[in-house]
Amino acid sequence: MRRGRHAEIVGAGMAGLTAAAALCQRGWTVRVHERTPGLRAVGSGLSIFENALRVLRAIGAENDAVRGARRGYERETRDGHGRTTSRMKYATTMFEITRQQVLAALVSAAQRAGAEIVTSSTATTAGPDATVTFEGDRVLRADLVIAADGVHSRIRESLGIPWRRRWLRDGAIRIMIDRTPHELAHPDGRKNVEYWSGHRRILVAPCSDTELYVALTTLDSDDRAKRLPIDKALWTEAFPCLEHLIARLDGEARWDRFQVIRMKRWSKGRVAVVGDAAHAMAPNLGQGGACAMMNALSLAVSLERIDDVPSALLAWERRERPLTDHTQRLSSLYSALTTWPDGLRNAAFWLTFHVKWLRRRYMRTTLHVPTGTEHCGAGNHAAGRTA
Ligand SMILES: Cc1cc2nc3c(=O)[nH]c(=O)nc-3n(C[C@H](O)[C@H](O)[C@H](O)COP(=O)(O)OP(=O)(O)OC[C@H]3O[C@@H](n4cnc5c(N)ncnc54)[C@H](O)[C@@H]3O)c2cc1C
Repeated sequence: MRRGRHAEIVGAGMAGLTAAAALCQRGWTVRVHERTPGLRAVGSGLSIFENALRVLRAIGAENDAVRGARRGYERETRDGHGRTTSRMKYATTMFEITRQQVLAALVSAAQRAGAEIVTSSTATTAGPDATVTFEGDRVLRADLVIAADGVHSRIRESLGIPWRRRWLRDGAIRIMIDRTPHELAHPDGRKNVEYWSGHRRILVAPCSDTELYVALTTLDSDDRAKRLPIDKALWTEAFPCLEHLIARLDGEARWDRFQVIRMKRWSKGRVAVVGDAAHAMAPNLGQGGACAMMNALSLAVSLERIDDVPSALLAWERRERPLTDHTQRLSSLYSALTTWPDGLRNAAFWLTFHVKWLRRRYMRTTLHVPTGTEHCGAGNHAAGRTA
């Protein structure tokens, strides 16, 4: 272990906080800059599969992350009338967890490891010599700068590495509502169910005994369906079986169009770009945050193995990029299903879940053992809810 090196990290999301914890655990001093005044996440759920759980375990955040969260055993697709069209048992452990709980677990792990987190601190540019500039023209120097500032990254822009954003045709409204006693007792509580009706779909994913995450996905061109507040009559017409649930979709909701970010390289000199800033993807596989955390941990591992920072960053990208590229491709393909006729789409799901080769490709990222977690034992999931 090398001591005495310092990192400045821009962005206190899943990528930045994971990198902070992992670097501190390897002897670095770390300061994380977050532009918002607090550390509050969008109200929504996250599917956290075994690959992401392993990263949380490696940095000491797993128990806090899964406490009281709901373990899922299978996923189903159904039509708008509630008829099951495909079913798949998860081959790995999966928890549906509120985003705020995952973030809080990461904050605690990073702080326990010794990271300093500074809020209301907005970075504007970074240079390959590991300098970072902030609003007000304050400049900090470090041995390493990590840009983990999300899909609209300013640091990515300032580095001059070629990159491109591809808008996908679909997007989602995310909303959290209370779970009813009826829902709590129902066997659907053990599943994530995705209802499809033409190009519209509704994911229903319980996160805990009290919270239900609902994502309404549609085409960006579907102006009425993406409107806020939610057009309940329109959605009920497409999903009559969810009438009672749709009636309860009040409160804070948010529309996001899906997008894919690809950079020519993930680093320049002593600056690394990680998470959505480097490789945002459609959320269809529940792997965007997982890739952010896996790549953040493996970045710290690479820096532990290779002394020279630019060389370590190149080795890191060589190792991790193929899986991230695969995950981006697959999640975009899933988005493309949105425009397929119902019958064809149902057949595609059925084949994916029943043909072993396709199923393994679909599950490849969730089955992956992330770099830096090879020696983590199986998780103790007693803190989560298993029913
Ligand atoms: C609808 C939807 C559903 C999803 N579901 C899942 C799921 O089930 N499972 C999963 O694994 N992933 C999911 N994802 C993806 C996941 O949310 C992202 O991949 C993940 O949040 C990326 O983390 P990040 O740290 O890279 O970026 P972010 O979470 O965006 O964090 C970036 C942080 O940087 C801060 N910041 C930005 N600019 C600056 C600046 N200039 N200076 C300082 N701070 C700055 C921001 O305020 C923010 O806190 C979903 C995404 C969407 C849109």
